[in-house]
Amino acid sequence: MTGTALPVVETGCTDAPVLKERGQREVFCGLTGIVWLHRKMQDAFFLVVGSRTCAHLLQSAAGVMIFAEPRFATAILGDRDLAGLADCNDELDRVVGELLARRPDITTLFLVGSCPSEVIKLDLAKAASRLSVANQGRVRILSYSGSGIETTFTQGEDTCLRALVPELPAATTDAPALLVCGTLADVVEDQFTRIFAELGLGRVEFFPPRRAASLPSVGPGTRILLAQPFLNETARALTARGATLLSAPYPLGVDGTTAWLRAAADAFDVAPERFASAIAGPAQRARTALARHRPTLEGRRLFFFPDSQLEIPLARFLSAECGVTLLEVGTPYLDRALVAADLAALPPTQLSEGQDVEKQLDRCLALQPDLTVCGLGLANPLEAAGLRTKWSIELVFSPIQGYDQAADLAELFARPLHRISRLKV
Ligand code: SF4
Repeated sequence: MTGTALPVVETGCTDAPVLKERGQREVFCGLTGIVWLHRKMQDAFFLVVGSRTCAHLLQSAAGVMIFAEPRFATAILGDRDLAGLADCNDELDRVVGELLARRPDITTLFLVGSCPSEVIKLDLAKAASRLSVANQGRVRILSYSGSGIETTFTQGEDTCLRALVPELPAATTDAPALLVCGTLADVVEDQFTRIFAELGLGRVEFFPPRRAASLPSVGPGTRILLAQPFLNETARALTARGATLLSAPYPLGVDGTTAWLRAAADAFDVAPERFASAIAGPAQRARTALARHRPTLEGRRLFFFPDSQLEIPLARFLSAECGVTLLEVGTPYLDRALVAADLAALPPTQLSEGQDVEKQLDRCLALQPDLTVCGLGLANPLEAAGLRTKWSIELVFSPIQGYDQAADLAELFARPLHRISRLKV
């Protein structure tokens, strides 16, 4: 099959220079990933070992959620010196014991590390293996870091999935199988499952799965299709187990989704006619729905602060499919290999990696963009300075991948622009 990639911009950003900044940054920590991971893996529980700050972050990031049976909690450790660490481990064992006794539905328990100094002193990996032995056959207990010192925002998903990789069963055959990697809303997963079935791909699994107890298998026949661009550690761990990473853009917008599906179709030798017929209906409907938002977005000047690591694929979608002009595209980390297809399709743009927040705010204010995509902490000051903003966290929490969501994704950017035109007299 030919034409597997997005339309490449002749002077794309494949080798574009990147402004690297290592100053103060305004980014959520990796604990935030729990908000979408706990919704996805319905039988998993996330126990943050942290401070009151961590508990507050989770509560506010998750919004006010009332569950009959919550699936995350924070074990709060007070100030202790090293001599008190034995007590900390006892305390953790006691909390875990009580939790598991009360909640027989939990099949996988994640102990999530944070950055308060008393937590850093605790060896959570050791605690997880100690507790695993004590609860063998009953519950899988793993640990990963969501600490703000080690992780930003979406990296929490990467460290969580990375911790699960050694638990994946070995594939019993080397026959090709597709593994879609990265959390997708169930509704999006169902849409993709239908299209993969029409393409006749055979075995397709999703990681993370809806039930943590039913992990997908991995082996030399596994073809990994990343649904999220922030999973470099997980991708590396999967390839170390013999899987092959497919080169693809991310399934944002109509063209992004088509190229992403085509990467899978190519890997499984799907005939071009079969591919065209499977995507024709959904792609056409998506194109029609997306066109409604183009007049609002076309020619608008947009600035991305680094936050979710979705910035490069989102910028590709906005410029190529919505006609937006990009002023600066910031990302916390730039792994060129994982966003190669989206970078190649970006028009020449100022790229930045990391952050020196004061300098970046100065650049943004000097450019006066029509819309600024940023974290919650920066949105209010920028709005007060007269700029329109979009919270990047919304782009992670909303289902945005796939054909049926292409227009919704555009609308997320169009809405603040509509709001300001309605406010004008
Ligand atoms: S892990 Fe660190 S950065 Fe994150 S909420 Fe807890 S204290 Fe704050």
